[in-house]
Amino acid sequence: MAAIGGELRTVVRGRVLVPGDEGFEQASTPWNLAVRQRVSAVVEVADAADAAALVRFAAAAELPLSTRATGHSPSSAADGTVLVTTRALDGIEIDAAARVARVQAGVAWQPVLERAAAYGLAGACGSSAVVGVTGYMLGGGVGWFARSRGYAAHAVRALEVVTADGDQRRVTADSEPDLFWALRGGGGDFALVTGMEFELFDATGLFGGRILWPAERTEAVVAAFRQATAEAEEGLSLWLTLIQFPPFPEVPEMLRGRAMVAVDVVALGAVTGPLRLFEEIPGAVLDTRRPLDAAQVGGVCMEPTDPSPARVRGELLAEFSGRVSDALLAAAAPQGGVGPLALVQVRHLGGALTRPCADAGCAGGIAEPYLLSLLGPAPTPDFEAAVAERSDAVVDALRPYLSGRKPFTYLDSGETPAAVFDPVTLARLLEIKDRYDPDGLFRSNFPVIPPLGEEDPSRVAAPVTV
Ligand SMILES: Cc1cc2nc3c(=O)[nH]c(=O)nc-3n(C[C@H](O)[C@H](O)[C@H](O)COP(=O)(O)OP(=O)(O)OC[C@H]3O[C@@H](n4cnc5c(N)ncnc54)[C@H](O)[C@@H]3O)c2cc1C
Repeated sequence: MAAIGGELRTVVRGRVLVPGDEGFEQASTPWNLAVRQRVSAVVEVADAADAAALVRFAAAAELPLSTRATGHSPSSAADGTVLVTTRALDGIEIDAAARVARVQAGVAWQPVLERAAAYGLAGACGSSAVVGVTGYMLGGGVGWFARSRGYAAHAVRALEVVTADGDQRRVTADSEPDLFWALRGGGGDFALVTGMEFELFDATGLFGGRILWPAERTEAVVAAFRQATAEAEEGLSLWLTLIQFPPFPEVPEMLRGRAMVAVDVVALGAVTGPLRLFEEIPGAVLDTRRPLDAAQVGGVCMEPTDPSPARVRGELLAEFSGRVSDALLAAAAPQGGVGPLALVQVRHLGGALTRPCADAGCAGGIAEPYLLSLLGPAPTPDFEAAVAERSDAVVDALRPYLSGRKPFTYLDSGETPAAVFDPVTLARLLEIKDRYDPDGLFRSNFPVIPPLGEEDPSRVAAPVTV
């Protein structure tokens, strides 16, 4: 490893760390602490030219590369790779007149939203503003504005990338239509992205927040959620979350081990009528709804912003009728007071996600009307096993109502893009991967791979053993 480190240091200007170096453990540890990645080196590229120099060297030396912005979605696919981190690529430019953001690959949503908010604009972020823009967009991105704008990746107009041949390219719908299509939803398997340009939209009149009740109100809140989502216009996004606060000392005593139910709201425009249904439910212990600007959207769900160990599972629901919510509550409710799933969330989708979009990337759309996600803390293998077991039980109980598909950004370990794309889309992605990265230099967290039994090992660069 020391030899690789020495060679890499002659190639790039950014910091290079290999196992045994001071700072390697910290630099190789992702945001989600439940996933341990055994990478052979970490290279913090200084800029796009540095990234290109690294790619040329890695291609010649047959060293596979994985890339990280914030580390929110690590997977074991990075094992044996040289991990490229983009944290130094932190430039943000807002062109308010053109309603466009130009960001470098290392930026998270929060600083972009803050800069956009100064002009009354917003970008199509997800629930957490500490998530990286690049990983989110490359995976499609299903966030607060998905009902009115579709997948967030639709907003991407251009990407600055380094391709596997070491070329720095600006990829647009006109310059490289296939690569542009693959990068908007297919993940990090096709090129190393150094920056991107995407559309912003008017966010004046933004409103939102969380209403939180004790779990005793769950039945009433779920019934109101079903009715409110049936009435909701596209500008209104409603997410239902069953919360089991973990019994950890860092959780405030009044919430520790307690079960609650929340409805999170973000509304663009005069579309808040259905919220009356929640206002009729007594006993709310918190109501943070208020006019918002874009910089405050990431706080609506009160998600943790510090690194933590967790397992997440996502599934698309074909319906959220009474029988489905009954099955969900029966399977997800904590047994014996405390359950392993800290969050069981149902997001209302629909709207623009269901409409064909002429210039959509490979993410396309989502026909299913609801997205279920299950999250549990995984500080130890025992916790992790309990989370996996309960998640499996919930999924089994809901199996008749799940489509079996999931958005790319909801893939968990052991899953592949075959759970995201139909066979035709997957075949086109594989063909583009083969054309742009025939030696398998780039290793995404969820690589586009042929279905089992159809792999050609000669096209996949061998991992470096640590
Ligand atoms: C708290 C939390 C909330 C979330 N909320 C949502 C949500 O509302 N909607 C949603 O759709 N998703 C959501 N996600 C999932 C999130 O979008 C994905 O985890 C996303 O991949 C994170 O991107 P990142 O850059 O932060 O993470 P990273 O782990 O840094 O990157 C993820 C992957 O993106 C690729 N990648 C990153 N940078 C580059 C690059 N420069 N070049 C090439 N490839 C690159 C790599 O394959 C990398 O493994 C959430 C995740 C968390 C942890």
